Amino acid sequence: MVKHILVTGGSRGIGRAVAILAGEHGWSVGVNYAGNDKAAAETVAAVKAAGGNAIAIRGDVAKEADVIAMFDATQQAFGPLDGLVNNAGVVAPTADLADMSLERLKTVFDTNILGSVLCAREAARRMSTRRGGQYEGRGGAIVNLSSAAARLGSPNLFVDYATSKGAIDVLTLGLSKELGPEGIRVNAVRPGIIETDIHASAGEPDRAARLGPTVPLGRSGTATEVAEAIIWLLGDEASYVTGALLDVAGGR
Ligand code: NAP
Repeated sequence: MVKHILVTGGSRGIGRAVAILAGEHGWSVGVNYAGNDKAAAETVAAVKAAGGNAIAIRGDVAKEADVIAMFDATQQAFGPLDGLVNNAGVVAPTADLADMSLERLKTVFDTNILGSVLCAREAARRMSTRRGGQYEGRGGAIVNLSSAAARLGSPNLFVDYATSKGAIDVLTLGLSKELGPEGIRVNAVRPGIIETDIHASAGEPDRAARLGPTVPLGRSGTATEVAEAIIWLLGDEASYVTGALLDVAGGR
């Protein structure tokens, strides 16, 4: 079945890999991104080359008007929504909590927590078999991006980020129960050390290469390996899976 999904933070990293794999399944993808027009355009081209359809939608997940607009744009382009990948997320340079500014904390919590909650709310409104609005909700699936950091706590690195991912786990558990009766499955993946640009944002561009050998499987993971799990959770093959927190972390 052709699915219509929105991937937040779809221009790069894990979100891009999800969009391209969705394209390989013939799905249609709203590719949201924050500001990197070139990366978003490259992702859209890659989804189309893979056999799917895609549009790029610039917008900040922490801004309500932007979130509503990105859902509207996806549904106007493709029709009723079947899935949301709540993937947009940020990390700030490594530091002890005692040295973190209010501005930094707000950026991390606004993007990772408020942004994910706003997007999940919008998906619930549109996909619920009890609501659905003008597009008549037909149920669907939400996959939230948590992190192994929610288990590890990330002391002296980014406790703020780990805290935000703990919130994602709770959001997943609560929403899976709230939305199950409305035809929406809600799951999370918890990636470990994955080779993307996010480590440069933390001031450690070589983090994946440095820490890969310490992982039980002996290496860091790829964005595509995480995307495979996300696509499975979105798809009909996972029809009885909800409220799961799936570690994709090489045993870390
Ligand atoms: P990434 O390579 O840094 O890419 C981040 C993506 O999010 C980009 O597409 C960026 O758009 C977008 N973005 C950032 N802030 C946004 C905002 N406010 N609104 C909309 N889009 C925004 O990140 P990644 O490594 O793929 O991580 C994706 C998710 O996986 C995140 O939630 C992250 O916490 C989680 N995760 C990653 C790892 C890892 O090791 N990589 C491990 C555990 C969990 P632009 O391109 O326009 O900047």
